[in-house]
Amino acid sequence: MDILLADDSKTNLILTAAALTKLGHRVIPVNSGEKAIEAFQKQRPDLIILDVLMEGMNGFECAKELRQIDPDNWIPIIFLSASVDDNSISQGIDAGGDDYLTKPFSEITLAAKIKAMQRISDMRQKLFETTQKLYLQSSIDSLTGVYNRFQFDRTLKEVTAAADRYQHTSALLFVDLDNFKNVNDSFGHHIGDLLLIAVATRLKLCIRANDFLARIGGDEFAIILNQIEDNETAGMMAKKIIESISMSYDLENHHVRIGASIGIAYYPQKNTTLQNLVQNADIAMYHAKALGRNNHQYYSEELYDRYQKKISLEHALKFAMERKELSLNYQPIFDLASKKIVGVEALLCWEHPTFGNVSPNIFVPIAEETGLISSIGNWIFATACRQAEKWGLNNFKKFKFAINLSSRQLLHEDFLPFIVDVLETTHLKPEMLVLELTESTVMSYTTGPFVSMIKKINDLGPSIAIDDFGTGYSSLTRLKHLPINTLKIDQTFVQDIVDNPDASIIVCCLIALGKNLGLNVIAEGIETEKQYEFLLKNNCPQGQGYFLSKPLTTEQMTIFLKKINEKV
Ligand code: C2E
Ligand code: MG
Ligand code: MG
Repeated sequence: MDILLADDSKTNLILTAAALTKLGHRVIPVNSGEKAIEAFQKQRPDLIILDVLMEGMNGFECAKELRQIDPDNWIPIIFLSASVDDNSISQGIDAGGDDYLTKPFSEITLAAKIKAMQRISDMRQKLFETTQKLYLQSSIDSLTGVYNRFQFDRTLKEVTAAADRYQHTSALLFVDLDNFKNVNDSFGHHIGDLLLIAVATRLKLCIRANDFLARIGGDEFAIILNQIEDNETAGMMAKKIIESISMSYDLENHHVRIGASIGIAYYPQKNTTLQNLVQNADIAMYHAKALGRNNHQYYSEELYDRYQKKISLEHALKFAMERKELSLNYQPIFDLASKKIVGVEALLCWEHPTFGNVSPNIFVPIAEETGLISSIGNWIFATACRQAEKWGLNNFKKFKFAINLSSRQLLHEDFLPFIVDVLETTHLKPEMLVLELTESTVMSYTTGPFVSMIKKINDLGPSIAIDDFGTGYSSLTRLKHLPINTLKIDQTFVQDIVDNPDASIIVCCLIALGKNLGLNVIAEGIETEKQYEFLLKNNCPQGQGYFLSKPLTTEQMTIFLKKINEKV
């Protein structure tokens, strides 16, 4: 042990130092309290022995000051005193001392006291090491070995405080894997875990030595770029990360691919605090997802306003049904050659008292995210079928009645019994119903339950149409294996067919593809005569759009159908 020994009596100092050296310790001898403090600051001993009665600073005063120099690092102090009464013992302990030795003392007593102090010292060291170890463990994500959410919160606090103090900019990147759930569903959780480990390894290689990486959720990672030189750094790193993560993985003979969406928020930035910094990066990340995933986006106030609007819409949508703000419009579908109506498509409308008319393109995804789609979807289905019954559509020959479905709605366990129930109570011919699913929905659900649900619905009688066809990435093999009856060519192609040769070629190919697969083909969004003529010339059998008829209200549709009936 290194022992700091302070005694102003030269004889005592020499005698005690000799005794300590004999016991195998290294002694730092000083002859005053002031010198003891000086020596302590330079050498940090393992034990301090202080004579109580010294000229100048006495032992108690010296102990008090020593304790203040390094309050967290507790080094045992033993006082040496000629006379020991209860009062001075208590005074010594209050000053920060741990034990007393009465002069004169034997070497055996000195050795025993030091041993006891050493034992306490060792225990303290062990406790310190264990705490450090626990601290480290509690800050590490056990699966990937990178830091966890707990450490992320702490580091973010430190980094933002440093950014405030030294007036530099730091950036927070939120990295969320795209469709990670699909990996778990298709390959099992074990492969999902291996993928997370592999992603963490690649992320580590993308960041710089003093950047911070943590896994803060299932498939969510956060990176803190401390003190960035310019605003490009974060974007460049995001690009590098996406490139790296998107490269394929070989995990126990499974070939896996995954993308990532990244949200970036800076600190400091206007109206940004430590509390909302994480939310800002999250908002930017969701924006990246909404823009088609596998890209990075920056947080901005404009994005925040949009986010606020979405939250308000989400809230308003919860009450839309009970406040009777939802209704259905019906758009006729025509045989293009004869211009005769062959069916209708039910389209959902939301008229909100302050937001006005909200497009289903905006609120249907919100309804899906919030789970409201299930009750709204059931309402759509029941309302549309009841209306079809009122119109007596059962009596129309070869007439089709189309309803749009969302994937979430389809996967809900109550959906099938619900359809059966509605069909029974309305007595509608099930074959008349066409259920429309968008191409991206059909192609992104590769799992068994989705496919078997489509088959079950088809077995009940309704046929399936693929909506917005041409916008997704269809696998023809998958198309062939699903009981699909109709392809609806997306309106973006139809609207370009006259002026854009690429679009016209695509539309012709889609018509041919549908026909070759033995499917009905409907062109959506026909707005002009020229578009109509083009489709007719290229043998597209059916179509819908403003040129033929806009979506009609229930009342308008009732009149429209009456006219047809009168003609028949
Ligand atoms: P969609 O199923 O492809 O419906 C066609 C959309 O094109 C409708 O928009 C319709 O009003 C619009 N449209 C029809 N003819 C024309 C035209 O000539 N020009 C243009 N520019 N547009 C035309 P809407 O009603 O805004 O619906 C948008 C999308 O929202 C629908 O696309 C569908 O994906 C979804 N949606 C609508 N109703 C429902 C529903 O009841 N349930 C679900 N799950 N989704 C729905
Ligand atoms: Mg549709
Ligand atoms: Mg469509």
